[in-house]
Amino acid sequence: MRKLVDKLNEYSYRYYVLDDPIVSDKEYDELYDQLVVLEKKTNTVLPDSPTIRVGGEVLKGFTTHEHLAPLWSLDKCKTPEELISWDIRVKRLLQNSLLPIEYVMEFKFDGLTLNLTYEGGQLVQAATRGNGIVGEGILEQVKTIKSIPLTIPYKEKIEVQGEGLMGLSVLQEYNKIAPEPLKNARNAAAGALRNLDPKVTATRKLDAFCYNVGYYEGIEFNTHMEIIDFLKNNRFPVSKYVKKFDNINEVIDEINKIKEELKNFDFLTDGLVIKINSIETRRQLGYTQKFPRWAMAFKFEAEEVTTQLKDVIWQV
Ligand code: NAD
Repeated sequence: MRKLVDKLNEYSYRYYVLDDPIVSDKEYDELYDQLVVLEKKTNTVLPDSPTIRVGGEVLKGFTTHEHLAPLWSLDKCKTPEELISWDIRVKRLLQNSLLPIEYVMEFKFDGLTLNLTYEGGQLVQAATRGNGIVGEGILEQVKTIKSIPLTIPYKEKIEVQGEGLMGLSVLQEYNKIAPEPLKNARNAAAGALRNLDPKVTATRKLDAFCYNVGYYEGIEFNTHMEIIDFLKNNRFPVSKYVKKFDNINEVIDEINKIKEELKNFDFLTDGLVIKINSIETRRQLGYTQKFPRWAMAFKFEAEEVTTQLKDVIWQV
């Protein structure tokens, strides 16, 4: 366990802090899963285990931003059976409630998490996730993303969460003339946003998708779909694919259909995210130390290609 923790922490440092990973996500995930199995078997978790913390530290030179609401990691699974087990777990936690649970499904964008603070309708701060509590202030860098609104109609204080991304076609164009080609779209976006010089960020022509309002004043939401409508009404860039389902079996049917469609998407994704639609149910389920109990990332099995940029759709 000690060896695994040390290795994973070293890989995380390269990935989160330097935006320069030395192993594939698939390799990282396999070691991480081995650690989870050992922790369960021994009922022991080392204090610096990556299973109990949201990865990421603040880079030197950046100001810090304390998030108004914490940012989380996501629990993960790879098979429909695991999704069904999660659905059963959720119902058990809700005291075997027989009420049907509505789910929503979205793409899991693979870029850099953004937390955008608006006050009086103005974008006043933008931050990375960092350790989930404190992130790096990257307001000037985020302002170079043209799809992110600098002003919005809503005037109370809110924090909007999303993902900063570099389009795969944009990356291809960029690499045609770049003196040093960028390895992949995830590191290209993360490296650009965590660059102290916003001029460098601007050259990467980044984009973004927003998917949550993490902190809000003066408004209440009953469902995730209401949050998505709020984001759309305030002109945030929202993915066209956000879909609601009446039960987990419908989610599983959809996963098989959407898998092919995702391959034509111009942004890097590393799976899908399934979330419970009701905010009240989310509140009842709460969080572990690392992730919400009301959401699950579904990762597809490896179709890994990292050498040919034009083929990189999944980075597993
Ligand atoms: P995560 O996989 O737990 O997912 C959480 C993140 O998903 C959020 O911060 C958010 O930014 C993003 N996200 C994208 N679309 C979303 C949506 N629709 N709704 C909600 N969130 C959405 O993130 P993590 O903990 O940063 O990453 C863990 C993964 O990172 C690992 O599974 C591994 O694959 C990879 N990793 C790789 C290395 C490496 O060396 N290759 C090292 C560390 C981590």
